[in-house]
Amino acid sequence: MPKVIIHDAVDPAALDLLNSRPDMQIVTIEREERTRLRAELADANSIILRYLPLDGNDIRAARNMKVISRHGVGYDNVDMIAANESAIPVATIGDANSLTVAELALYLMLAAAKQGLGYDKSVRAGDWWQAREEPRTIELFEKTLLVVGFGRIGKLVAPRCQAFGMNVTVCDPYIPQDLISDAGFTPAPDFAAALSQTDIITLHTPLNDETRHMIDAAALARMKAGALLVNTSRGPVVDSQALSDALASGHIYAAGVDVFEEEPPPTSNPLFSHDNTILTPHIGGLTRECFHRSAIRCAQNTLDALDGKLDPAFVVNPEVL
Ligand code: NAD
Repeated sequence: MPKVIIHDAVDPAALDLLNSRPDMQIVTIEREERTRLRAELADANSIILRYLPLDGNDIRAARNMKVISRHGVGYDNVDMIAANESAIPVATIGDANSLTVAELALYLMLAAAKQGLGYDKSVRAGDWWQAREEPRTIELFEKTLLVVGFGRIGKLVAPRCQAFGMNVTVCDPYIPQDLISDAGFTPAPDFAAALSQTDIITLHTPLNDETRHMIDAAALARMKAGALLVNTSRGPVVDSQALSDALASGHIYAAGVDVFEEEPPPTSNPLFSHDNTILTPHIGGLTRECFHRSAIRCAQNTLDALDGKLDPAFVVNPEVL
């Protein structure tokens, strides 16, 4: 009987799909049950994995694993060296959450530009007239936007920002640059040079050795004074202390942040002290609609892997198939 671990809550649609097979054993494991997880992995054939790390020891313990089915597209929480050594495919949900993250990036951009958090606090505190004394917000219209990473999400953010009348530039040196210009945007393959032209930056790269702290103190200093930053990619892409310093000095006007260097972030996180930031708890893929789509894709990847017909398009290490 195939055994599937579901680690952390998923939409019931995944259970319904898995249970459509009469012979399926489904084991649900709560977020904090690390010890039990290791024990259950020993004879499991699939794991549907949300946020928690799956380290090398977990993966080596999973001797019958046919697929690690990520409930998302980032896979930096999976030890890929161990997965490759054990020839275990790691599947993701493809474009099931791209639109959802793109919408969140737009929300964070608008909320930061319009100082959503500060104004909300002012109204609730009865601080009406003082809040209206002088303008504090900015417009998106005619601002130069830098989209970093023109993959599934970046491609959806760019036209939405263009619809606001922004001048959209795109930095993604790993794709043919005519893909960017043919889509109606300005290629900006030289990241450092592009920063000095940028009013608003939105990050859509994976986390890897090259992108870790890609936004550091030097990168922030290169950006135009009064620039705005949105990060829905991965927390460590931005040096949060450097961002906090730039917000404190006013060089960076505001920031919208969904992802943190440490998750959950400790209350000592330097970004918590700024009213000109808008923060969300890594909810890029957490609309009701997307949660449902993601669960179905995870369950389908599991069933396909058990049947030996996992679609390589969803696999980040297809060489192990
Ligand atoms: P994708 O793989 O489709 O696109 C990533 C793009 O980044 C690629 O085109 C790649 O060429 C480009 N890239 C890589 N390194 C780069 C660099 N140094 N500079 C510029 N571009 C670079 O991925 P996607 O589906 O668009 O997702 C992007 C990232 O968003 C994911 O890796 C994940 O970390 C993050 N994400 C976050 C959430 C959330 O809940 N906040 C949800 C989904 C994805």
